[in-house]
Amino acid sequence: MTTLPTPSAHAPDTSIYDRRESQVRSYSRAMPRQFGRAEGVWLHDSKGGRYLDFLSGCASLNYGHNHPVLKKALIDYIARDGVTHSLDLHTEAKARFLRTFEEVILEPRGLDYRAMFTGPTGTNAVEAAIKLARKVTGREMVIAFTNGFHGMTLGALACTGNAGKRSGAGVPLSHVSHEPFDGYHGPEVDTADLLEQRLSDPSSGLDAPAAFLVETVQGEGGLNAASPEWLRRIAAIARKHGALLIVDDIQAGCGRTGSFFSFDGMGFTPDIVTLAKSLSGMGLPFALTLMRPELDQWAPGEHNGTFRGNNHAFVTATAALREFWADPAFADDIARRGGILERRLERMALRHGLSTRGRGMMRGIDVGSGEIAGKITSACFAQGLIIETSGAHDEIVKVLAPLVIDDAVLNAGLDILEKSVADACPQVLKNNADDRPGMPLGVAA
Ligand code: PLP
Repeated sequence: MTTLPTPSAHAPDTSIYDRRESQVRSYSRAMPRQFGRAEGVWLHDSKGGRYLDFLSGCASLNYGHNHPVLKKALIDYIARDGVTHSLDLHTEAKARFLRTFEEVILEPRGLDYRAMFTGPTGTNAVEAAIKLARKVTGREMVIAFTNGFHGMTLGALACTGNAGKRSGAGVPLSHVSHEPFDGYHGPEVDTADLLEQRLSDPSSGLDAPAAFLVETVQGEGGLNAASPEWLRRIAAIARKHGALLIVDDIQAGCGRTGSFFSFDGMGFTPDIVTLAKSLSGMGLPFALTLMRPELDQWAPGEHNGTFRGNNHAFVTATAALREFWADPAFADDIARRGGILERRLERMALRHGLSTRGRGMMRGIDVGSGEIAGKITSACFAQGLIIETSGAHDEIVKVLAPLVIDDAVLNAGLDILEKSVADACPQVLKNNADDRPGMPLGVAA
């Protein structure tokens, strides 16, 4: 199998988009091609070009495009006229998903959650989570964190830090306090101490919170990975002050950081968890809010919606859980590939005096400015590598390769990234990092 992308040289006619699609479109501006087919780690454009996908639908295609097992499950289901739309009626597909989720994900972890099928996007799951926390606690204020990203609907947007995203709201975004995330004030300052101090001080001006809403690794906010110690402190502080802990695992979950939940094995249990993106396994819209059973205080229909529970997504999500998560070897695979990614990004960082961010297969390199990061991602795209940025200034080049990527293809993509970083950033070390002990090339084990 060839590992190299073969991009097409010329952009197609995009006048229909200019004429009829809203200005709000974004990714297509940086990648002006028209795609028609996709399989595994590859996207194909209408001119015969082939692109390596290190964006994976922003972590919604952790198992790659059109995985054959998932695709077959869906085709079989459609072929036998399985229910497509059902509001929230009981369906065979839903029952199978719930049983599989219980058996493969919850029981082995000793977790007891109820699942709420919200509207099909991540922001819907976040809305449900914060509404529920406010309802159960009778409090209004939510603690979110600097650089957090939680979605575009008004409640979730109020919890999002990014000014550019917030500016689209058109109304005040309120009832949220944005407290410093782990490391926000540098390594010397424990921001959990700051939060504890503010919550314990009756004169701090901070109202008693309904919930803390946190990402363990901030996806859009710059791949800032909170330490397990900080997260445990945050969980303990939430409990002490009567707030619910909501982990937004929409981007970091479903294996992106190495295990199904990004908090697995960290020694705390969130009260509420949100999942979406890769949950369906095939890029189908599907979101879930998990809650401890005693928090399930909704009245029937109190949080309603036409598209709650997507039967096609139930089918593919069930297939993905069986295919990948029933066997612990998958997590070992992610760890090994995450190690390759880590070593190669570290090597680039060392060469150019930069730093890396992230955890597992959710990592990136901080190249200092959005301008440089943009040059790098454009150069990558010209060589057939689809890759994006994140961070407050878009200064992090972020690698979200499919978790199932072949090691040789991963390395081929990282070669393109490495060359593009080298072209855009000055070399700061005389000895290049290849020669340094302890910095091996990220070759397949
Ligand atoms: N929460 C996190 C952590 C996310 O990364 C995102 C999307 O990037 C969302 C929520 C919102 O998800 P969606 O775009 O599906 O509404």
